[in-house]
Amino acid sequence: MKTKIDLDFAKVSPNIDIKPRGLTMSLPHGGLPEAISPYMVQLIRRTGGVNGPLGRQFVAQPDKERRFSKKFMDPLNEDHHEIAPGVVYKYQGKLNPDGSVAHYGRVLWTVTRLCATYCRFCTRGREVGLPPHIKTESTAAIANKFFLSDEEIDHVIQFLKDHKEINEVILSGGDPLTASQSYLTKIIPRLAALQKEGHLDIVRVGSRLPVHNPLAISDWHYELLGQLKNPYLMLHVNHPFELTEETLHVLQNFRRISLASVLSQTVFLKGVNDSVDVLHELFRTLASEGIRPYYLFQNDPVYWAQHFTVPMKRAVKIWGQLRPKLSGVAATARFVIDVPFGYGKVPLPEGACWDADLSHFYDFKGERHELEDL
Ligand code: SF4
Repeated sequence: MKTKIDLDFAKVSPNIDIKPRGLTMSLPHGGLPEAISPYMVQLIRRTGGVNGPLGRQFVAQPDKERRFSKKFMDPLNEDHHEIAPGVVYKYQGKLNPDGSVAHYGRVLWTVTRLCATYCRFCTRGREVGLPPHIKTESTAAIANKFFLSDEEIDHVIQFLKDHKEINEVILSGGDPLTASQSYLTKIIPRLAALQKEGHLDIVRVGSRLPVHNPLAISDWHYELLGQLKNPYLMLHVNHPFELTEETLHVLQNFRRISLASVLSQTVFLKGVNDSVDVLHELFRTLASEGIRPYYLFQNDPVYWAQHFTVPMKRAVKIWGQLRPKLSGVAATARFVIDVPFGYGKVPLPEGACWDADLSHFYDFKGERHELEDL
């Protein structure tokens, strides 16, 4: 008999209201539990059920998810690049010999492994949603606990002060906005202070909470983000059905009250949004709501989500057909592949405009790699 383990996320984060089915609906190591907010359950029911474009993103398909090996448990090599608690430093800055900044770098700071619903294609399935008693091979700070300790947060703030070649922080997780007000108050105002003191230029906050459960967003979220100088809210949104009245309302509030720039990130997913018409509707709506389409990501090659991957040539073809149909302000997204093994993000060519053979690419350090080596 399989053991059901109570994953009472509400005990650790008051912003989460989800009904997990338990570990039997997780990946083999215990991560990515099937846990869906009541709001999203209702939306899935209204948009085609488990085989609709939202159901496919959030309802577990254990047979497909467990089919492959664990080769790509950490395809983006994030554990390898974690150099302070939760801080992934891949896009590194550089100092000149005289100590001045040659060029700036940016860090991703994963501050929780909780989300308000779990996406079945999540790149960080190796750690998100894991119950606390499960030990993993991941060396990430949040792999074995839900939140960072006060000492770890202090450590990171000092780390950012000490590394003047870092001028940008991307808050991530899990979903940082699912954490409690008291936890985020230990982080966001201190990042705002680093901006004021000249240690940081840009703070981005990555979140899917406005889609997963906009009803969990309160006035304090707007106030807290508003403490940052020119905050960027990076919204993960994949299908126009996710842009409900409730979601658009909170996104407007982030723009109006927090004075945030809201940018969108979309994962290209087979059976969900691999269609010119769907992406056209998504980007058109985002642009008309004042949200700038920013990234369209090729699905990362994590072993549990290979059934979502659109072959690259087909992806480029769809992208090439889509671009000419969009207004210039809706065609602001770049289609990128976050190349496995930590080579960074590489934009894909716009199929209809360039005749590219896709045999090789150059990473963010300018080094050439053959595509067949991946
Ligand atoms: S919201 Fe982001 S971190 Fe959370 S499960 Fe979805 S993709 Fe993963």
